[in-house]
Amino acid sequence: MDDIPDGMHLCPTRVDAHAALFAHLVTVPMCQQRQRDHYHKCFTCVHNNAQAGARRIAPEVLARFENPRKQSAG
Ligand code: SF4
Repeated sequence: MDDIPDGMHLCPTRVDAHAALFAHLVTVPMCQQRQRDHYHKCFTCVHNNAQAGARRIAPEVLARFENPRKQSAG
C-alpha cells in the first residue's frame, strides 16, 4: 500500500514481511485497543507492543555479547 496517511499503519504488518490476505489501515489508538482485546493477528505483527520490545532489546543484548566487559583476574 503506497499512500498511508500520517498516524496510520497497515493492520497487520507481518514480521516475516509477507502480505496479509486481509489488511486495512488503523490508527495507533485503534491498534492499541485491538491489542488489549487480543486481536488474533497481533502476535505476528511488527506493531505488536511485545515485538517492539524485543526489537528494542535485541541490539543491546547483542552488543553485550559482541563487546563483553573486560574482567580482571585478580
Ligand atoms: S498490532 Fe495488532 S492491531 Fe496493531 S496493526 Fe498489528 S495486527 Fe493490527
